[in-house]
Amino acid sequence: MKTAIYPGSFDPVTLGHLNIIKRAARCFDKLIVCVMVNSEKPAGMFTPDERVDMLRRVCEKLPNVEIDQSSSLVADYAREHRACTLIKGLRAVSDYEKEVQMALINRQLNPRLDTMFLPSGPKYNHLSSSVVKEMARYGADLSDFVPREIIDEVNDRINGRNG
Ligand code: ADP
Repeated sequence: MKTAIYPGSFDPVTLGHLNIIKRAARCFDKLIVCVMVNSEKPAGMFTPDERVDMLRRVCEKLPNVEIDQSSSLVADYAREHRACTLIKGLRAVSDYEKEVQMALINRQLNPRLDTMFLPSGPKYNHLSSSVVKEMARYGADLSDFVPREIIDEVNDRINGRNG
């Protein structure tokens, strides 16, 4: 069984992430989307549990996609889950340098682990979770940026109506 891991912050999941999830899920028997929790990083807008919950709702109809969270090194997480591939989405050239460096480090840590890059869907090339949060702050329509299942939740959190 071929398992791949798609790691990230997903704070919150965007249509750019979802596009990568759907395309990667077609290539593997199982795709684990893993919210990586890094204690060195600022806490983020949503808690890891909330991010997992949003991802679960958004991926509900994708039978071979599982959602998880972890504070381990991604190379160790992959080993524990017998995954041979990490999935990374590439937007602009700016993603490339950092991601290639990470791919080399991860392979050094876990020689059975390779990284597969998927180019961003053309509509999502400039989309990031930070852009979504910025748009929501200005009351922009989020329907081109995040899955519809989570639009209200993102708006409510950012505009202080919840949590
Ligand atoms: P961000 O906060 O920048 O959205 P994440 O850590 O949540 O980043 O991203 C996880 C992974 O998803 C990374 O591999 C990142 O390059 C990729 N990714 C993020 N946004 C997009 C997008 N719009 N299109 C393709 N890949 C993306």
